[in-house]
Amino acid sequence: MPELRKDPVIGRWVIIATERGARPTDFKSAPQVISRGFCPFCEGNEDKTPPEIVAIRDYGNRDTKGWRVRVVSNKFPALQIEGGLDKRGEGIYDLMRGVGAHEVIIETPEHVTSLTSLSVAQIDEVLTMYSDRLNDLKKDKRFAYGLVFKNVGSIAGASLEHTHSQLIVTPVVPITVSREMGGCREFFDYRGRCLMCDMLKQETSNGGRVVIDGDQYVSFEPFASRFPFETWILPKKHRSHFEVVPHDELGELADVLRESLVRIESALENPPYNYIIHSAPFTVQDLEFYHWHIEIIPRLTKVAGFEWGTGFYINPVPPEKAAEFLRGVEK
Ligand code: ZN
Ligand code: ZN
Repeated sequence: MPELRKDPVIGRWVIIATERGARPTDFKSAPQVISRGFCPFCEGNEDKTPPEIVAIRDYGNRDTKGWRVRVVSNKFPALQIEGGLDKRGEGIYDLMRGVGAHEVIIETPEHVTSLTSLSVAQIDEVLTMYSDRLNDLKKDKRFAYGLVFKNVGSIAGASLEHTHSQLIVTPVVPITVSREMGGCREFFDYRGRCLMCDMLKQETSNGGRVVIDGDQYVSFEPFASRFPFETWILPKKHRSHFEVVPHDELGELADVLRESLVRIESALENPPYNYIIHSAPFTVQDLEFYHWHIEIIPRLTKVAGFEWGTGFYINPVPPEKAAEFLRGVEK
């Protein structure tokens, strides 16, 4: 019998098709096409990207060799940094200018295609860079939200294979974020506790959906996972904003993120995936009801008519099974 599970955050229903009993091998993705062509993100090609915004460097000047992590503007930005918002209405419609920021974080000067090829110390620097960029952009009062995400594989939206992440800053709070915050606030108003703090307690005491239980972070498969092997990383310490996490707490996050991805890559043979940092808007201070986290979404299933029409998802792998597979991965 399939099971209907309700996501406690935004109330979205998921159909867990328990009887199909899909295994990781059912999702073997087509091998990633390795382009042998020119890569603008490799060391030595600094003049082939838009100008550097900031970098962590061993030596050298801006837009030359010697960097370890480098941030540049996106060559084809979704939003542009210059100018005012010019908010206005046209009858029932609202619009404003496409002001924002769109940056690319190049995670290593070497041509590697996965974040997991980097050491924990290198990933720690990448996370520190996310935090620094968010804190910098947050100072600009035009901006309401900063989203850090990663696309891996062309199905997941990556156009270059050299490992990198992106940061988009928007002048309004995105609907996904406000829905998630609304759900968490409702839970808090009713019970006086943070939903994700409760989730953390329940998941770690039950253990069936947990992949990694670290000192400061837990990696687990959410109860109402929309996608097979959807994995969340939740910090044990309650904070609403990722960018306020002290830098010395990012080392273990680097470790848990790396290990989560190693397990996913190994179980599913390097699937395309996205990860997204869910964090509260720039426009609000520390919130008791919202808890930042990372969502990792392997791109194994297709979203089609039923999902578009209903907002339901059909997931052929129960999260308990997915967690079992991921825990059992030989590293
Ligand atoms: Zn490269
Ligand atoms: Zn919390």
